[in-house]
Amino acid sequence: MATRDPVDDLRRIAFYLERANEATYRVRAFRSAAAAIAKLPAEELSERAAAGTLAKLPGVGDVTARCVAESLAGEEPVYLRRVRSTEGTDLPAAAAALRDALRGDCHSHSDWSDGGSPIEEMALAAVELGHEYLVLTDHSPRLTVANGLSPARLRRQLDRVAELNDALPEGFRVLTGIEVDILEDGALDQEDELLARLDVVVGSVHSKLRDESPRMTRRMLAAIANPHLDILGHMTGRKVAAAGEGDRGHRAGRTRPPSTFDLEKVIEACLEHGKAIEINSRPDRLDPPKRMLTVAVEAGCLFSIDTDAHAPGQLDWLRNGCERAALCGVPAERVVNTWPMERLLEWTAGHK
Ligand SMILES: [Zn+2]
Ligand SMILES: [Zn+2]
Repeated sequence: MATRDPVDDLRRIAFYLERANEATYRVRAFRSAAAAIAKLPAEELSERAAAGTLAKLPGVGDVTARCVAESLAGEEPVYLRRVRSTEGTDLPAAAAALRDALRGDCHSHSDWSDGGSPIEEMALAAVELGHEYLVLTDHSPRLTVANGLSPARLRRQLDRVAELNDALPEGFRVLTGIEVDILEDGALDQEDELLARLDVVVGSVHSKLRDESPRMTRRMLAAIANPHLDILGHMTGRKVAAAGEGDRGHRAGRTRPPSTFDLEKVIEACLEHGKAIEINSRPDRLDPPKRMLTVAVEAGCLFSIDTDAHAPGQLDWLRNGCERAALCGVPAERVVNTWPMERLLEWTAGHK
């Protein structure tokens, strides 16, 4: 009889749901159930499946119990088969080549800030996607709504990442990082000493997004000139209705127009300081817009194609960014996460 691993099946369901942009809380049932049954001896699991008492386990509900029972019987759970069909269609050739060239992801969140999963879950999903590294970029202190990390918590996170890297498979590393808030005066919202220790620093604007262009431009230029910043995150801060959402997102107030700034000056500053512009792959961001991306490509900028994932399945959103990058003619050699990890780290270290 074919044997299946029910823990694996539950995690796979969670992954596909996240990739389909389902809310993290909806996915949690599957991740919790996977964690709950992973602790049990195989015999107890089979006995409970036979007796129909799986759902009595803490963390396991009727739906997840059914998945486990099907999996133990050697069948692909019906639920898994259903969510697997959200698998994307083939990418156009140029986008697929770009996706193949990517070695990692420079923007991701864990449950230390506003992500839904522990660092190790994010890391394991990145390993499964074939990444060589994942940069962990949780939020900075002043983004309190996103549970931004104080200097003390960030120091603890650095210790945790070092521990985790010892346990992760050879050939893969979690790189340390931050998505640091670009404050209103253009300063970065974390201690210099800490920013200098991190492998990769993504800087993003999250407040006063409607400020007038001269003010926003000054703010962005100051941040780009800051030696600690490596990558300018979601540069316009826009929010778009995610695919399939139609006009719903707009009516629900989930959309936001791009902020206004002097694009040429920002691009010039990125070129002058050797900083990369992020191509953010989140379906509700897709930032920068194509016309701006095209200008940056023609100017010769560096880019980083990132997911800004807040859950493991969202790490597979790189395809979105690659599709846009290919459409706008972004050459692979100018995408910093196609470089070997050593070169990426040399580049970021060169900014300090
Ligand atoms: Zn952000
Ligand atoms: Zn982010």
